[in-house]
Amino acid sequence: MPLSPAKLTVSDDPMTATPPTIIASLSNTSDEPSWQEQLNTLISSPSELFDLLRLPSELLTAAEEATKLFPLRVPRPYLSRIKKADLNDPLLKQVLPLGLEQEVNNAFTNDPLGEKESNPVRGIIHKYHGRVLLVSSPQCAINCRYCFRRTFDYHNNTPSRREWLESLDYLVNDTSIEEVIFSGGDPFTLSDAQLRWLLEQISNIPHVKRIRFHTRLPIVVPSRVSEQLLNVLSALGQKVVVVVHCNHPQEIDEHVQHAFLKLRHVNITVLNQAVLLKSVNDSATTLIELNKQLFQCGVLPYYLHLMDKVTGTAHFQVPEVVAKKIHTELLAALPGYLVPKLVREERGAHSKTLVQ
Ligand code: SF4
Repeated sequence: MPLSPAKLTVSDDPMTATPPTIIASLSNTSDEPSWQEQLNTLISSPSELFDLLRLPSELLTAAEEATKLFPLRVPRPYLSRIKKADLNDPLLKQVLPLGLEQEVNNAFTNDPLGEKESNPVRGIIHKYHGRVLLVSSPQCAINCRYCFRRTFDYHNNTPSRREWLESLDYLVNDTSIEEVIFSGGDPFTLSDAQLRWLLEQISNIPHVKRIRFHTRLPIVVPSRVSEQLLNVLSALGQKVVVVVHCNHPQEIDEHVQHAFLKLRHVNITVLNQAVLLKSVNDSATTLIELNKQLFQCGVLPYYLHLMDKVTGTAHFQVPEVVAKKIHTELLAALPGYLVPKLVREERGAHSKTLVQ
């Protein structure tokens, strides 16, 4: 079904409708920087990060070396939730470049999931039956140091419009594809016009029934969930699912809560996937709090991922035996619908692998 210029509408469904008093407070005030300004002013210099957060200068050289392999990107709304002068802050640990990233560990490689083998045309990864992943943007608003795509070949997977039309023929010709997953990078770094154009192409493919976005923008730059974006998403004929990527309850402030509520307000299903990260969220207490807070904003837990073994990220790894113990504690403490599935991705597998 083609994309039509629908307006933001209020849900009549009592299960999903957001009270008017909350909606009234959801709009950004005019003096807040726009999401585009937030992306243009994010922190990319280690020395600026160290100054702003009062970090020990003896770690700066290693941080600068690490950013030669994977650049620093920290948006200011996210920075504001990091405690100053605290190297143990769980949000800082996700963005701080470290000398540890240079250590060689043979179990960690550049392409542990074999995505190169599942990249039939530019911009498309096809691993699982019935769904494909679109590398819709080569960039993120934040560079998470544990990123599983930190070495991904974005250069050869950033099609022009003309090349996208060729790549999208792949979707047209495979009628088994019911779901298109916008990933990246982060798809919400695209402008509304770029997103609308891509969605228009896909929404004309009759066998595509669902469109999913994987994004960290509602958490790291919550103003990205603008009325314009909601209009683009809610105009789709297909069911829309947004999978956010929130790892720690400290990542959720009132702006993030509002971003989630706004997505729910237009009847978008919002799920969360977290990555289990050493010294960040590897405790049942943290994850119980995370899932309770998410539910308060209409977000349901989806996956808790064991980390993919990507070069430079070994220091984040949580042993499987510890992961299972934490997951068992979640099952004991929370109702089933608040417990994410503990999974890992395996090269060549036809789905995520449940860790039991
Ligand atoms: S937002 Fe996702 S894709 Fe982007 S750097 Fe973080 S983990 Fe990687």
